[in-house]
Amino acid sequence: MTTGVAAVMEALPSLDWTTDPALVRQKSRDFFWYSPVLKRQLNRVTGEAVVAPRDEDELRAILAAAHAHDVPVTPRGGGTGNYGQAMPLRGGIVLDMLRMNRILHAEAALVRAEAGIRMIDLDAQCRRDVGGELRIHPSTLRTATLGGFIAGGSGGVGSITWGGLRAPGNILGLRVMTMEAEPRVLELRGADIQQANHAYGTNGIITALEMPLAPAHEWIDVVVAFATLSAACRFADALARRDDITKKLACVVPAPLPQNHFRHWGAKVPAGMAVACLMVAAPDLARLDALVSDHTGQEIHRERTEDAAVPCYEHSWNHTTLQVLKTDKTITYLQSLFPAPDHLSLIEKLERRFGDEVLFHVEAVRFAGQICAIGLQIVRFTTEERLDEIMRIHEEAGSPIFNPHTFLLEEGGMKLVDQAQLDFKRRSDPKGLLNPGKMAAWDDPDWKPGAVPPLELYETDREA
Ligand code: FAD
Repeated sequence: MTTGVAAVMEALPSLDWTTDPALVRQKSRDFFWYSPVLKRQLNRVTGEAVVAPRDEDELRAILAAAHAHDVPVTPRGGGTGNYGQAMPLRGGIVLDMLRMNRILHAEAALVRAEAGIRMIDLDAQCRRDVGGELRIHPSTLRTATLGGFIAGGSGGVGSITWGGLRAPGNILGLRVMTMEAEPRVLELRGADIQQANHAYGTNGIITALEMPLAPAHEWIDVVVAFATLSAACRFADALARRDDITKKLACVVPAPLPQNHFRHWGAKVPAGMAVACLMVAAPDLARLDALVSDHTGQEIHRERTEDAAVPCYEHSWNHTTLQVLKTDKTITYLQSLFPAPDHLSLIEKLERRFGDEVLFHVEAVRFAGQICAIGLQIVRFTTEERLDEIMRIHEEAGSPIFNPHTFLLEEGGMKLVDQAQLDFKRRSDPKGLLNPGKMAAWDDPDWKPGAVPPLELYETDREA
């Protein structure tokens, strides 16, 4: 009798399957290699087959068959996650969602779309058809999917105005399919959305989302240089507080990163200066100019975001890390919160503490209703022990770390078991077949932060 993935494929021969090992391996990876820790742990991970459902009926058939044969299923959108989120730790099927990509409904203030749609296509069609745009998108706008952003991301371009994806109102509805003998479709609204938001697809496959839209603007990229990192941070903070200037981004990058790694306009940045990379609505540029002048900034670059070969947002968030990694493989990164109201002094303090070892790339954001900053620090990597120590020093100083060097859902976030997500998984995936190995509390009900399950559990014996 056929078992495992082969049995699922035999039951559903008309679906779009890929079994070529090289292609399957490619679809089993994401951007985990930003982290030297995850690179060591996950480099050999691969699934056994990839399947791309076209609609909910095909998806239901896949989940029911995988459930019957006890086969793990790991969903995947654009594969741009950084923590191995979309990597099938226990093999099985990689569920490629890219074909479920239709817009189901759009009006000026909201859009409903299937989860596999690329965010750039969704944003462009909303602008064209209803004059609205996504409130928030990751810097991976061109490659990420809507479902992958909700299941694996947390915020990004637009968070300076709208906060993160967890903030109430930033996701209006979430449709999710369960992993059971007869998969059910659930429509989550209001607070219930958090049960499957940022759950790495461990407790349901998101099939569609309803997102709020903001009025569409013509965005202008502006890059301004400042004498010091602190001056650039003070300016970004002041801009974030200005309700009369509509903005989507204020990303601060310290010297010498722009000069050495930003090929598009970095050569124009004077030595030793930090930059603020901005996206501002065209009608508000005069007010921006006055603010830049008040802060003795020096404009370096200006162009319509739409016309830019490498827009400001592709220098921001985790794209800053990517731009640096392109020419310097010795670095890695961190993610941390600088909470209000002392965020600016905390950044200064930690900058002095670490010198060149940690370079403070920060994003001005609204978090829990207050303006503050998120750091995506560029770290000169030496050892895993030193990386742990750098994270510990941040936390002791009052800057909570969102650890990008773990594939565990709980360790990457607030280091707490999310009881609502765990309870939802008990109902939606009773056999624990969805993206197994990522929700620590599922595998170990007594899980505590730092208690990483034995690595053998995750290593596969398949050759890389
Ligand atoms: P994938 O990587 O394919 O998947 C992400 C997670 O979601 C996985 O756990 C996967 O299993 C799950 N998943 C995918 N689709 C579904 C579905 N339909 N149902 C259930 N689960 C699903 N993140 C940010 O939040 N903000 C940023 O600004 C940002 N910038 C980035 C810049 C770079 C250069 C890189 C490499 C990453 C960045 N990220 C950022 C991380 C990543 O881009 C985001 O998480 C992104 O939105 C993921 O989308 P994706 O379609 O690529 O998802």
